[in-house]
Formats: sequence, C-alpha cells, structure tokens
Amino acid sequence: MEFSFPKEPATEAPRANPRNILKLVFGYDAFRPSQEAIIERVLGGDHALVIMPTGGGKSLCYQLPALIRPGVGVIVSPLISLMQDQVDALLQLGARAAFLNSSLPRPKQRVVEQQLRDGALDLVYVAPERLMKPAFLDLLKEIDLALFAIDEAHCISQWGHDFRPEYLQLSEIRHRFPDVPCIAVTATADGPTRDEILKRLRLPAEGVFATGFDRPNIRYTVVLKKNPKQQLLRFIENEHTGDAGIVYCLSRKKVEDVAAWLCEQGHEAVPYHAGLSSKQRQSNQERFLREEGLIVVATIAFGMGIDKPNVRFVAHLDVPRSVESYYQETGRAGRDSLPADAWMTYSLGDVVAMRKILENSNAGQKHQWVEQHKLNAMFGYCETTACRRQVVLNYFGEMYQGPCDNCDNCIQPVETWDGTTAAQKVLSCIYRTGQKFGAGHVVDVLLGKETDKVQRFRHSRLSTFGIGEELTATEWRSVIRQLVAADYLRVDVAGYGSIRLTKACGPVLKGEQQVFFRKDPKPEPKKKKVKAPKPEIALPQTPDDRALFDALRTLRLDLAREQGVPPYVVFNDSTLAAMVQYRPHTLDEFSNLSGVGEVKLQRYGEIFLEAIRIHESTEA
Ligand code: ADP
Ligand code: ZN
Repeated sequence: MEFSFPKEPATEAPRANPRNILKLVFGYDAFRPSQEAIIERVLGGDHALVIMPTGGGKSLCYQLPALIRPGVGVIVSPLISLMQDQVDALLQLGARAAFLNSSLPRPKQRVVEQQLRDGALDLVYVAPERLMKPAFLDLLKEIDLALFAIDEAHCISQWGHDFRPEYLQLSEIRHRFPDVPCIAVTATADGPTRDEILKRLRLPAEGVFATGFDRPNIRYTVVLKKNPKQQLLRFIENEHTGDAGIVYCLSRKKVEDVAAWLCEQGHEAVPYHAGLSSKQRQSNQERFLREEGLIVVATIAFGMGIDKPNVRFVAHLDVPRSVESYYQETGRAGRDSLPADAWMTYSLGDVVAMRKILENSNAGQKHQWVEQHKLNAMFGYCETTACRRQVVLNYFGEMYQGPCDNCDNCIQPVETWDGTTAAQKVLSCIYRTGQKFGAGHVVDVLLGKETDKVQRFRHSRLSTFGIGEELTATEWRSVIRQLVAADYLRVDVAGYGSIRLTKACGPVLKGEQQVFFRKDPKPEPKKKKVKAPKPEIALPQTPDDRALFDALRTLRLDLAREQGVPPYVVFNDSTLAAMVQYRPHTLDEFSNLSGVGEVKLQRYGEIFLEAIRIHESTEA
C-alpha cells in the first residue's frame, strides 16, 4: 500500500498543516501540551531541546515536522535494537522510513543510501557512529535535509548516567549543517546535563521545552513485605491478569526463583539477568516485545531500550538503590498513557541489605556518602505518609502539591501518630543494652519478656525493661524499621544485625525533635476503593468488554506476526480500548478512533470491524 505526502510548504498545502497530518497520518485529534509549540518551532527552521517524561510524546515532535518539511529527517539514536521497531511503526503509518546501522547487511545499506539520494525517504534512523562516517556526511551534503533529531540526547553529557563517547562527535553536524534544524530530545536532564546538551549541540536557550516529569497515569503503591511472592501473585491476579509487566529483583537467584514460581502458578514469565547467555537474554527480550501478556522477572540489567508502550505494571520485590533508579524503572510502565501500576514490596530487611551492599562496595568515601543519601531518600519515599507523587517530584526539584488521587497514600490516607516518646524508649533501650543486639531482643526488653537472652545478659535490671507494654511486638518492629529508614538507627550489617544509634538521635533523645510514624495497615486491609483520575480512554472493566479487548489483542497479534512486527505498531492498547469503548460499526466511525490514520483505516478497518461484529453477535 503506497501513501505519499505532499511535501510543499505548510502554508500552501492545507493537507500538510500539522493538525491535518496529526489526524491523517497518526490518527490523533489533538496535540499534547507543548507538542504543538515545539513542532511550530521546528517547522519554522529553528532548533529545540525537548525534555519530556517517557511516554510524553517526544517522537511526534520530530516525526511530524520530518513529514512536512522538504527533505529527509535524520534521526540519531543510540539504541540500535529499537530502530527496526520504530521504522516498522512508521511504515505502518504509511510514512517512508528506513534505518542504517551495523546490523543491516551491506547490500541493504546501499539500497537505503540510494533511497536517500532519490529523495525517497521521509525519515532515516542512524546510529551516531554511522552518521559521522565521512562518506555518509558527504552523502548528506548532496541531499535535502528536513531536520536532525538527536534521540536520548542526555547521552552526550559526561555527567549523565548513559554517556556515549560517540555522541560527543555529534556537535560536528551542527558545524557542518548549521541551517538544518536540530531537535534534541530526552526524558532525563537535570540542570547540568541540560546545559551540556545546549552547549555541545549549540542550541539556543529559548529553544528549551521542558514539561514536568509527572507520569499521571502511573499509580504508585508500596506495601510492607510479608510473603512477597504471594503478595505479588495476588497483585497480578487481582489487577493484571494477562497483562505484560516487569518484576524487578535484586539478585539473579531470586529472579530465577520468582520467574519459575510464576510459571508454576500459571503465568507466563521469563527471567532476565546478566548471568544468562546473550542469546537467551535477547530471545527473552524479543518475546517480551513481540508477545502479549508476558512477564519478565529481571535484575536491573533489563531496561535500557525497552520501548514497549503497553507495559501495564512494574513491580519491585526489592527496593532500588535510589529514587532516580526507582523512577526510571517504574517509568517503563504505561508509556501509552493508559493506567499502569508501579508496585513495590518493602521491609526492614531491604534497608539492611541495601546498606550492606553499599558498605561493602569499593567506592571511595565521598561516593559512599552520596549513595548513602540517595538510599535514605529512597527509604524516605517508602515510609512517607504524604502523596508519593509529591515526594518523588519534589525530590527532582519540581513543585507539585498533592494529593494526586493516584497513589496508595492518596487513595487510602495513612494514619500517623506522634511517636516521639516511643522513639525515645527504643533509642534508650538500644543504648542501654550496649548497641550490640538485633531488633528482636530490643523488642523483648521493651516488652519485659524474660527470655534466655534477657536472663543471660541481666537485661531485666535495666530501667528500660518492660517500659514498652503499650505497643505490641509488631508495632515496636514497625517503629524500629521506620527509625532505621529515617537513619536514626543503623543496622550493623557485618555483625549479627545489631542496631546502633546515629548522630541524628541526639535531638530526639533530648526532646528537641518530634517524630511521627505511620500506622502500618492491618494484615488484611479492606479492598481499597479505587478512585483514579479518569483518562480519556479507560481500559476495559466489565467481563464482556474485557473479552472483546482480548479478542482484539489476539487479532492484533496475528496481524503483527504475519508481518513480523511487534503488535503495538499495528495499534496500541489505547486504540484497542477505544474500539471496545465506542464499538464502531462503520469505517467512518472507525476513522474517528484515536490512533487510526488513513493508512491504518484502509489496512485494518474492515478486519477489526468484523471482529467487533462477530463478538457482538455471539454476546449472550
Ligand atoms: P516518548 O518518546 O516521549 O517516550 P512516544 O513518542 O513514544 O513517547 O509517545 C508515547 C505514546 O503517546 C505513543 O503511543 C504515541 O503514539 C502517543 N501519542 C503521542 N502524541 C500523541 C497525541 N498528540 N495524541 C495521542 N497520542 C499521542
Ligand atoms: Zn498521591
């Protein structure tokens, strides 16, 4: 099926105005906030730096101008493995796109180069090292260029976490092609990184577009770890049957164990960690991208280059090392803007384990100090009684005032209590027992239990013996956990889990500082009443809607398999959900759905309408 775009200046051809192309090609009715301004700017020939969260819609900001402006748009991306999928998605829209990287056989590379010379492409994706080859730069000199887009632009920064040396050379293209608009896009850029991108790519400060980092469609939940595998299973079965998701664990062993266990429980799950062969890893990743509803249980080795838009949940069975990591990992959920879950289990054991890893690391003192602070912020997030979104966004320096109504603390506010006296009791009990014992013994002393250990060390003689009968053992453990999380207490990880005080305790013991604790929920909380902000399109809720959704997913998978492309390039989940919600019966109605452009309408309209008809005729 051929589809070509009129490549006249936007003012002369009404078809080529941004809004028309948005509807015609991408099938969307409206721009997201700031997309339109960015696109106008690039269409006008100016440069831009776009900082938007994952799923914010960055690709459209360069794809659409590349379709409208004369010449080819050159998209630089470090993720070779994703180029094919991005090109497949564009081909599905009827755009003329190709990629060039080392994975492409030579003869095919020549074909693409010829297409470039013939002006037969709207977009070409290239790896940075490929772009900088002299012969390729010469080729670019000969042809019309619509724009340069630098994807994952933070890779140019030596301060960022994904520095790519080959990205440094990209500043060269700005010298060679000063008049071609350059649009750099990234989801992660703090102040220094942003400045470095601007400097290296010589982009003007007025071309910076930074939207907030909020991911409103993601619901954040942290639960206390009791029986983590069972808790995970309940979470998946209650909220995400048949959905694709990622489960992060700290160790390879646990990854293997949890993946095997989920399979035993009847869920499709595969492991992913650095200990697997690269072939195995690649095959598991491929399955995740190409199949519906697969769960990947992984260490942090899994993630870079996961562009699957319909990951419905990210679960953490262990606490990540920093809020940065947590936000990046959870950010892989819900790129398609549909409701998604970030769910985590957390315990005192996590605090102890993470501190141990840190203390055993060979990092220098300063580095350890920084990491320690990051870890404390992460535990602070776990224990917070405030809106979690607010805590995270404030951590990143963004003003946000909750409640968000889409995190556990907002949905079911946590009760807090003034624990100053309780904290003083625990701290002095630890002090008086010599800072040599673990939580269990400290609690026994507080409760006045005559255990063997108490007798052996004559702790019943202490003034703190039995001074804590107003709380239960579980409540005291919760107090200790929260004091450790807040870094009033440290668990000696080299020894036997003995707890000691930190400097921070002084003001509390002297009564100069109040301490508030969260009331942990009772073991079996009532089913939460869920009230989430309403997205434009909702995922199906009723069994009948769900059945139709599943049928459409299967159809999508079949169509994708026939063409050897990932399912979501046929239609994304929001478009399927819109089909379920609006139940179109004519091509005209079908064309109104978000995500249905002209080419997809022709290509898939009838076949999906047919599936909807069949489903409705078999409805009870
Ligand atoms: P990013 O690159 O910022 O992570 P994408 O460009 O992949 O995000 O966009 C995320 C999702 O949002 C995609 O499914 C995309 O098609 C969709 N999207 C982008 N812009 C719009 C829009 N204006 N209206 C509806 N959906 C959009
Ligand atoms: Zn909230």
